Amino acid sequence: MVGYIPRKIIVDTKVRDSLLTHNILNNLPGIPVEYVADPNTAIDAIRGEKDPLCVGKKVLLLTENRGRFLKPCPGTKEYICCGYRILNFATNCNLECSYCILQAYLNNPAMVVYANIEDMFAELEDELSQDSESIYRIGTGEFTDSLALDHLTGFAKLIVPYFAHKENVILELKTKTDNIGNLIDLQHNGNTMVSWSLNTEEVAKREEFFAPPIDDRIDAAFKCQNVGYRLGFHFDPLIYYPGWEEGYQRTLERVFAKIDTWNVLWISMGGFRFLPELKPIIQKRFPQSKIIYNEFVPGMDGKMRYFKPIRIEMYSRMLEWIRSYDPKLCVYLCMESREVWRKVFKEDRVENSENLAKILDDTGDKK
Ligand code: SF4
Repeated sequence: MVGYIPRKIIVDTKVRDSLLTHNILNNLPGIPVEYVADPNTAIDAIRGEKDPLCVGKKVLLLTENRGRFLKPCPGTKEYICCGYRILNFATNCNLECSYCILQAYLNNPAMVVYANIEDMFAELEDELSQDSESIYRIGTGEFTDSLALDHLTGFAKLIVPYFAHKENVILELKTKTDNIGNLIDLQHNGNTMVSWSLNTEEVAKREEFFAPPIDDRIDAAFKCQNVGYRLGFHFDPLIYYPGWEEGYQRTLERVFAKIDTWNVLWISMGGFRFLPELKPIIQKRFPQSKIIYNEFVPGMDGKMRYFKPIRIEMYSRMLEWIRSYDPKLCVYLCMESREVWRKVFKEDRVENSENLAKILDDTGDKK
């Protein structure tokens, strides 16, 4: 995979001396840099472009996070949610998946790195010391891809060794890339897992434009396994199309041809869902994409979803195929109702978000 290179870097003068800013500028010699006291003017200028999402992805903005870095995952109360926390060190992503929710969710179109990581570490020290009994499951891949910018930021080299010394944390780096160069020599002490979003090769080719092919992602997972990282896989979004069964079975075959099932901490599944505002964006930016031309129903959270019987069918078949490799693999559903859980797993083990959080905490604790 060719790593992301911006056309321009904008540095908020408040973070001009931060370690991340130095890393990024050192890794991008020759790229024009503009220093600004207030990044809002630059952001407004991008918003005024004809195609702000496209222009924004070419601009790397280094600024400060003035709010909290660590936040609960924005799951919805209507569905069972896994109790994850997000470490918000960057927003936006260059991989251009047609279905990416960030296109409708973020109001800043630039690629943003929050460079005041000294504040982030201070916040983490404070937060993690408050409840030493609980397991903190923390991820960096909700508002960005965890590793897409790592060749520029070197963020993994800072965060992985930091968490290696914490007792009660599992950090999940979630990615579609093979950008794992920085991870290989790090001391992680089993406290960091690396997980890949996977799909069928057809969906990857058609809908995940700048993400590496599925085999390259699995090869990257294999390399991480070889240096002791525990792994995760996310089949989200599952896309319903003629031939989906063969497509997903083929991806699972490729995964388990290389990856040891005992080394997989969890596998999640989530059917394709989207905010209604995303549909015109996909139509405009990805006119060849067919994924929105299906029958959908509005869910309790306002997102459009496949009909329940389709979701149940997809999850049930996937579960059957995954469990044929190892019946003990931890598999969970992302943002689904208790009824769907019960029909897929044929038991009522997960009644609410607390149950699911406990199962994942216990799984993480066995790392
Ligand atoms: S990898 Fe994730 S964050 Fe990046 S464009 Fe695709 S869906 Fe969005």
